[in-house]
Amino acid sequence: MSSAETGRRVIIFALGGTIAMSASPTGGVAPTLTAEQLVAAIPGLADNSVAVEVVDFRHMPGASLKISDITALADAIDQRLADADGAVVTQGTDTIEETAYLLDLLHTAPQPVVVTGAMRNSTLAGADGPANLLAAIQTAAHPKFRGQGCLVVLGDEIHAARRVRKTHTTSPATIQSPNGGPLGYIVEGHPRLLNQLPHRAAVPTAPGDDIRVAIITMALGDDGTTLQAVGDHVDGIVIAGLGAGHVPAQTVPLLETLADKVPVILASRTGAGSTLQATYGFPGSERDLISCGLIPAGYLDPIKARILLLTLIAANCDRAAITAAFGAEGGYRDTETWPWPTNLDKDT
Ligand code: ASP
Repeated sequence: MSSAETGRRVIIFALGGTIAMSASPTGGVAPTLTAEQLVAAIPGLADNSVAVEVVDFRHMPGASLKISDITALADAIDQRLADADGAVVTQGTDTIEETAYLLDLLHTAPQPVVVTGAMRNSTLAGADGPANLLAAIQTAAHPKFRGQGCLVVLGDEIHAARRVRKTHTTSPATIQSPNGGPLGYIVEGHPRLLNQLPHRAAVPTAPGDDIRVAIITMALGDDGTTLQAVGDHVDGIVIAGLGAGHVPAQTVPLLETLADKVPVILASRTGAGSTLQATYGFPGSERDLISCGLIPAGYLDPIKARILLLTLIAANCDRAAITAAFGAEGGYRDTETWPWPTNLDKDT
């Protein structure tokens, strides 16, 4: 570690995931390792100058975490950060892109929250958990990362929670930011910050488990039957549209009716790039859908768009506020349109 990290304190919250998995008596691997065991598996950590405290917060696979687990975690982090320099969260990578973004939206303190995990469990050759956890601790302890909100660190890359995605089922390089790339890297044990986000954004209210936002992926020949089936049972909808935000023409009347009742966000199923607003003019195009009341997600992919919409519904936002929030977070409007204060990077 560098002198920048000397004498600093980091709190580790362990939630489970592959990083904590070892052989289960019933076959396969399951989360069994404690936070203390995760830390003990990092070679040389005991000799360096960052003081580490651990909290066993949950013991679950990423797939079973709930929104309420993450909002409870955000509260716990907030309480413990008063006397720490940063927090690290270890969890399953299956939902890391969602939990990290929700933590980012709920986090207002300057100390970084760094989420990490592993793709190879502790029984495998080349298990990546110890290296990822060490890199996360180094990043959380480093003063350069104050004011950067929630970050995801895996494979010696540092990613913004707003942009990061799990892109591969098994590769240790699964974690990527297709829009903009990593914010930084760990080099020879030192975290380096190369890029910064244009703004930070926090929401005033934590969502509960009872808000339902469906993600509906549009596909060749979709006639809207699935959309119709879920449309009356949800508080909001994210359309994972074709290309830059398109749907089959036959689904447009239904989408217009739904957008009258609940917020309907228009994202892209492609995995990278922004939705468009003003290019295509055919029935079912982004121009058509926006005129029918759909709200573009910009650079937010459908999974991030769902998380943001959950928080906006929890905050009782009206249509204008939801549109403004997606414009700011989606990167296609001035960040000043975000409905709440954005000067979160200032040390208090
Ligand atoms: N494959 C997942 C992981 O990386 C399993 C999980 O999310 O718990 O941790």
